[in-house]
Amino acid sequence: MTQQPQPPVPYEQTSDYRWTEAAFHLLESGSLTASVAASDNISSAVVEGVCPRCVHHFTDRRPLTAVTNGLGGSRAGVPGSGGTALVEPAGAYPPVVLDITCSCGVPHPTGPGAADASAAGGCGVSFRIELAADHGPLGGRP
Ligand SMILES: [Zn+2]
Ligand SMILES: [Zn+2]
Repeated sequence: MTQQPQPPVPYEQTSDYRWTEAAFHLLESGSLTASVAASDNISSAVVEGVCPRCVHHFTDRRPLTAVTNGLGGSRAGVPGSGGTALVEPAGAYPPVVLDITCSCGVPHPTGPGAADASAAGGCGVSFRIELAADHGPLGGRP
């Protein structure tokens, strides 16, 4: 149980799959959160939490402009607006895959040979988060 402050990990541009796995575990444990905030028909993905590599806190927010669902924009013509509410189409929102690059804002040393500390924040890790834009906690509907 040592409480020594750790020096920041050196900057390394890596997209090893283990970081994606680590991010997944962080999502499960709640140390990392990914959500979609929608307003005015513009959805934004917000990923916030600890970086799986350098364990610094970061926030990544980006608009989901590229997500154009081919589900037919028939939102205005919802039939049976007085009937049962079980007609909710499964998979109305396709899963969103986000490629996140660490943006913790903490300068990481770029190694002994590289004096260029232009890496303004972030340890260089990239990982992937699959964001199921589902409003249920786990989507476990029987
Ligand atoms: Zn960091
Ligand atoms: Zn990082």
